[in-house]
Amino acid sequence: MDTPASPRLTASITRLPAKRKTGCCDVKHCRNRRRGKSFMCSKHIMQEWRANNPVTSILNTIRDRARRRGIPFSLSLQEFKEFCATNGYNSRQHHIDRDDPTDGYHLHNIVVLGASANIAKGNRERHSPRYQAYLASRMADSRRQADNLRQAHEEAAELPY
Ligand SMILES: [Zn+2]
Repeated sequence: MDTPASPRLTASITRLPAKRKTGCCDVKHCRNRRRGKSFMCSKHIMQEWRANNPVTSILNTIRDRARRRGIPFSLSLQEFKEFCATNGYNSRQHHIDRDDPTDGYHLHNIVVLGASANIAKGNRERHSPRYQAYLASRMADSRRQADNLRQAHEEAAELPY
């Protein structure tokens, strides 16, 4: 188990043990079937698990997103836990970002950013020649995606950062 459950996540689960006779998930308004011998459905088992294991849950989310986007990833749970403790990471206030956006999610390349700082940094970075070159190499096989990005950059340029 990680640090204590976040109240925001647990508050969304209201279990009604009286529903046990019905054979469906104990969570209020949920009509999914229970999973195995559990009193909840798969979705709510996962929701409860994420609430009880916030750090592991966040790491899993980052890993999945990195995999989908083809970004290298080498963080272990132990490394990430220590990183979060050392840097005072709070999932509601901060984002985990890569210091060098052309490198992957490795212990030496991740930083904690305030959520609004992350957005501002992203807008600045998208204008840097180095990042543009990196993007071009990645997007060479997809003209359409590159066009969409260029459009986003033009819109970002109009923002007062
Ligand atoms: Zn359910």
